[in-house]
Amino acid sequence: MTIFSQEVRIKTKDHIELVNITSKVNEIVKKSGISDGSVLIYSPHTTSAIIINEPEYRLEDDIVTTLKKLVPKGAGYKHDRIDNNAHSHIQASLIGASETIPLIKGNLYLGSWQAIFFAEFDGPRTRTVLVQILS
Ligand code: ZN
Repeated sequence: MTIFSQEVRIKTKDHIELVNITSKVNEIVKKSGISDGSVLIYSPHTTSAIIINEPEYRLEDDIVTTLKKLVPKGAGYKHDRIDNNAHSHIQASLIGASETIPLIKGNLYLGSWQAIFFAEFDGPRTRTVLVQILS
């Protein structure tokens, strides 16, 4: 088994924001020299997540708007008494901290309409995402 790991630094600009990191993940895949296996994209934070979906700006806005409606800020959460960001933790928990994508013949097995997003729920911040490729 071969393992290649690399971190990606992301500077977010908004409180809630989706950042398309597909090209960054592809660069790391090429650099690894690994052609077949699986690619883990992992966010080691409690208020961010990884999403695979369509890179269409209206849809990205719809996802953000829907998550804000589902988990509104300051809705009486206990965690807000110490940190004031319970909504961020809950939004991140709903999505999840990682995604795994099959790697076949040097290419990420993404559908035509799929892209990889880093989802910020408590920005703006500087974040780290780990990309780990296993063959
Ligand atoms: Zn917190």
